Amino acid sequence: MNLCRRRRKEALTKTRKFETRHLVSYDIKAGAGGKPTKQSSRKSLRTARAEKFNDSCLLQRKKINAEVRKNFSIFGILLWKQCCISKNKGGQFDSLGSTLVVFAVVADHALYYSDQFVLSKDNFDTTRKAAWIAASLDKDPIPSVRLCSPKSATLADARRVHSENYLQALQTGQPVATANFSKINWDSGVLPMALSACGGMLAAGKSARRDGVAGCLSSGFHHAKRDRGDGFCTLNGLAITAHALAEGNRDHILVLDLDAHCGGGTHSLIQNHPRLWQLDVSVMPYDDFQPGERCIKETVDDARQYLKTVWRCLQQAEAEWPLFILCLYNAGMDIHQDCKIGGLAGMDEFIITLREEMVFQWCRERGIPIAYAMAGGYTGGKMSRARLVDLHRLTLICAGKIDSSDNICPQRKSDVKIKKGKTHGT
Ligand SMILES: [Zn+2]
Repeated sequence: MNLCRRRRKEALTKTRKFETRHLVSYDIKAGAGGKPTKQSSRKSLRTARAEKFNDSCLLQRKKINAEVRKNFSIFGILLWKQCCISKNKGGQFDSLGSTLVVFAVVADHALYYSDQFVLSKDNFDTTRKAAWIAASLDKDPIPSVRLCSPKSATLADARRVHSENYLQALQTGQPVATANFSKINWDSGVLPMALSACGGMLAAGKSARRDGVAGCLSSGFHHAKRDRGDGFCTLNGLAITAHALAEGNRDHILVLDLDAHCGGGTHSLIQNHPRLWQLDVSVMPYDDFQPGERCIKETVDDARQYLKTVWRCLQQAEAEWPLFILCLYNAGMDIHQDCKIGGLAGMDEFIITLREEMVFQWCRERGIPIAYAMAGGYTGGKMSRARLVDLHRLTLICAGKIDSSDNICPQRKSDVKIKKGKTHGT
């Protein structure tokens, strides 16, 4: 049995444990909003205190708890406690528990950001929030996340998936309807902004293949189509990166889209490529599409079913699809119940934290490098700028705590063609 198969078999065993124990336990212990019940929390805390006296690794645990407290929301801390307790009580939450133990291993990964990501004069979350998140990292750094400046993508890169007429419209602003179709008001900064964002995603994809994990602070990709933008998306950095990195390669790339809205733009741009696959779980049917043969698509309308659905789709992809050399993850936060554009009642930080851990853990256990982008998430109403930034930081935290070297399957390390120092970005 080769290493990849053995690894996959081990992952499947862990998967079954996670599915039967964790997701079922989530249903029993959590209310509709996903928060642990008072009773289970109190019991958990009592057990945790008792365990501390018997734990020979007390100092180590304190260190890990301190790290978790520093980086996780209160929901993350509760989850952490539940995991420790359940794990020691007989293996429950085994998979998730091991995730958080792995989280103690701080691994450095590249997160691409450029001031050009916010070059457009249009004042909307998609054209501004990358700078907000970068500023938050300056003020309150996340250990193991290293900001890097990417080179912009070129027009030749964009031509892989977009038409010449559309690119000319973005250059000149004419015709006005085409240049403004994305709902981002056109100005001369829009095209450089979009190319820079795509360059960030491309750099993240290349870095992830080398290092296991990488990210990009850009958003506004997955609705963009061949001849027009859509839904605040100008150029489709996910499709450009997928096409660029699949070229001249026998291997397969997965686009995992967990934004609140469907990724119809991405689907239209990758559906005919034989080595590009798409898994799309949304909570509303905007930009809906008919999935092709290399696509799994689900729309969830009940928050209690969300994690189960994502997990089931991941399992289906694993069972039926080939092993991927890269996962491009569109980590939308607009599923949050307080997000006016996309939010679903019952979706809160707890569920989103679990989702991020599930995704990064799924990739880690299968040796799949993962490159993530910010995707949707909008201010307004109860969603302040600070809250939105904190939500997006959850993705960075989960990515940053993964032992990224595990994200490259041993057998495939030698296959990686991209040598150190030759990434697209710096
Ligand atoms: Zn969205």
